[in-house]
Amino acid sequence: SEARALAAKDLPAQSTDGFRIRLVGNIEFPEELPSLLAHGAEGIGLYRTEFMFLDRKTPPSEEEQYRAYRQVLEAMDGRPVTIRTLDLGGDKVPGKGRHEKEPNPAMGLRAIRYCLSDRALFRVQLRALLRASVHGHLRVMFPLICGMSELREARSELEACRTELGRAGVPLGKRFQVGIMVETPSAALIADRLAQEADFFSIGTNDLIQYSLAIDRQNREVAYLYKPLHLSVLRSLRSIVTAAKDAGIPVSMCGEMAGDPIYALVLLALGFDELSMTAGQIPTVKNVLRQASREEATRLLATAMELTTAEEIERYVRTEMDKRF
Ligand code: PEP
Ligand code: MG
Repeated sequence: SEARALAAKDLPAQSTDGFRIRLVGNIEFPEELPSLLAHGAEGIGLYRTEFMFLDRKTPPSEEEQYRAYRQVLEAMDGRPVTIRTLDLGGDKVPGKGRHEKEPNPAMGLRAIRYCLSDRALFRVQLRALLRASVHGHLRVMFPLICGMSELREARSELEACRTELGRAGVPLGKRFQVGIMVETPSAALIADRLAQEADFFSIGTNDLIQYSLAIDRQNREVAYLYKPLHLSVLRSLRSIVTAAKDAGIPVSMCGEMAGDPIYALVLLALGFDELSMTAGQIPTVKNVLRQASREEATRLLATAMELTTAEEIERYVRTEMDKRF
């Protein structure tokens, strides 16, 4: 029950055979912090910073961004806080009229592409993040990475900002981890290479599913084809996690799939280190993880992946989950 789940707020999300997963929160605004803490979030896995840029005429200044990031880092009091750089474009367009309307926004100038095409805008955010990094446990990640060049470009922009601030005598604290969202089939297929230069992965299933299955996540006509348990998605997840483990870097999931308890055993079996979701989902997912073993989850996933259609896999997983919970 909800009451029992909330009572488990300070207990770890650990399977009966001792596998521990860190459960963290997704936020769009610092105002969501009290609710995250009340639900037992062990950190923040996805802070969608672009929301600060929407519904206004001019972008927030370095100072305004710095204050928001600092507030979040301080509130989380040493717990890891993963801040995603701007994911503008696509479905999130700032101050109307500043940019061309694109015929295929999901495949257009969005996220890291947008930032690399507007370096001044990107640098303001990177400077604010570097300055905020002294106030807590910061991790930074770049969205919609498709290839190593984008990761290198983004990292070198970050280093240039670090050098510039350092020369100006601004306090910067120690280096923080820099990771990527794995949310395109391209990144998934070269995850082994990306893992050599990224400090961590966070899988964005909302986009990974959209691009893998060629299903526009905004289009209701094809919503019935949007299947997190499609075999192609499961294989993709398995290979991304394997690439991360082989390289010895942590792997998280921050797409909506992470917060639905129906998938919790599948994700336990795959071997995620961290799952990030909205505050209200944390107690429910934790409750499932605490009642199952990694061993039984592994058997469940193995059987599921022997099946072929998304409908068969879904039916099988639902039946197994219903038996247990
Ligand atoms: C995702 O794509 O799964 C994700 C977490 O990012 P967003 O939903 O903001 O695109
Ligand atoms: Mg995404």
